[in-house]
Amino acid sequence: MTLTETILARASGRRHVAPGENVWVQADLLLTHDVCGPGTIGVFHREFGRDAKVWDRQKIVIIPDHYIFTADSLSNRNVDILRDFVREQGLPYFYDVIDDPQGHWKFDASRGQLKRQYGGRFAGVCHTAMPEKGHVRPGEVLFGTDSHTCMAGAFGEFATGIGNTDAGFVMGTGKLLLKVPETMRFYLEGELPRGVMAKDVILHVIGAIGFDGATYRAMQWDGPGASALSIDDRMTIANMAIEAGGKNGIFAADQKTFDFVDARCRANGTKADYQPAVAEGEQKFVYDEKFDLSKLEPTVAMHPDPGNRALAKTLGHIHLDRAYIGSCTGGKTSDFLAFAEVVKGRRVAIDTFGVPATPQVVDDLHKAQLGGQSAWSVLESAGVQMTENASCAACLGGPADTFGRVNKPGLNCISATNRNFPGRMGNKESKVFLASPYTVAASALTGRITDPREFL
Ligand code: SF4
Repeated sequence: MTLTETILARASGRRHVAPGENVWVQADLLLTHDVCGPGTIGVFHREFGRDAKVWDRQKIVIIPDHYIFTADSLSNRNVDILRDFVREQGLPYFYDVIDDPQGHWKFDASRGQLKRQYGGRFAGVCHTAMPEKGHVRPGEVLFGTDSHTCMAGAFGEFATGIGNTDAGFVMGTGKLLLKVPETMRFYLEGELPRGVMAKDVILHVIGAIGFDGATYRAMQWDGPGASALSIDDRMTIANMAIEAGGKNGIFAADQKTFDFVDARCRANGTKADYQPAVAEGEQKFVYDEKFDLSKLEPTVAMHPDPGNRALAKTLGHIHLDRAYIGSCTGGKTSDFLAFAEVVKGRRVAIDTFGVPATPQVVDDLHKAQLGGQSAWSVLESAGVQMTENASCAACLGGPADTFGRVNKPGLNCISATNRNFPGRMGNKESKVFLASPYTVAASALTGRITDPREFL
């Protein structure tokens, strides 16, 4: 069995499962956020009763992160709905925006967008926060009410996005009926050349198979090239499985994974024991291709979908109006450090927005030194508008006052995020070009799509 089949067999109490079988899977964790949480809670109350208790208080993680730093009152209210539910149920893992468990969240627009407006428990973008806060473990099953839940596959777990109705059912029972996906294997060899990042790997692969090329399939990343990737790189790649339609993305857990997970579980006092999955017996793949990382070049997914692939070096004729670095995929500390490496000592030529994924990233960037200057200050000196309000922000557009939102028709934006369907970052008549932090940084400097190797 493949890694995904091995995990699903164990989670459904069977010795063996095969693709296409429907099995009842026991969840280890359910994740929800401010956009889908209220709907999930509504389904849970409707189906299980107003006084029902969730299946396991320790196994529900609630992370408000999407529409947070906005004056939109309905968005603010969603966070209050989550807080009321957490209080009612006594849930320990709620990463509230404010510290007062009896309070109400209200974004204060008069204080501007840049300075932090959250309390001590706020965690930022859920998929980046989950590992930081010790909620990912190899071999486990994670369901989340968000399509990029697949990011946790970087840690050798089965992680997938589900809708509010399914999530309401999981909240009440801890179980979900699931069809076992077929597995596609992406065997990585070689090393990434200078100027090429994990984002280029996943954009290259989605370009090869198409934005629906992995529909309802597991994307398993194997080989020496996969082992050599850092945890952050694996997160970037696993995150975008859904951009090819994948059910999940998965890397085998190794010592790097164990070291990362053990340290985060210890630091946060979360469950520390787990049983990593090892592929058993013969693995059957519906697709099995080798990719030589050393041959890859900086890659861009052009408007209007993540599979619309081109090399950055061929796109110099495309003029840009803005650049954006942030999100679960592209807002990690390592992403901002790569961006800073390119823009250090230079000035961006177009409006450029930086939104760290989590408060931890904000702190890391204030502390990290680049030639005697903090990384945060390097970015600001280069003209990047940096906000400390870690969140999804303009990655998915959001209310009109969202930081970095593409509000006007006709704008071209290059972005380190993961999705570029029409209207994704705001106006439906704008265009989003997806690229690595290196490529976004180089393009921000020139105002046109630029191969970052020109600056490295
Ligand atoms: S940062 Fe973007 S992709 Fe990630 S969870 Fe938020 S909206 Fe979704």
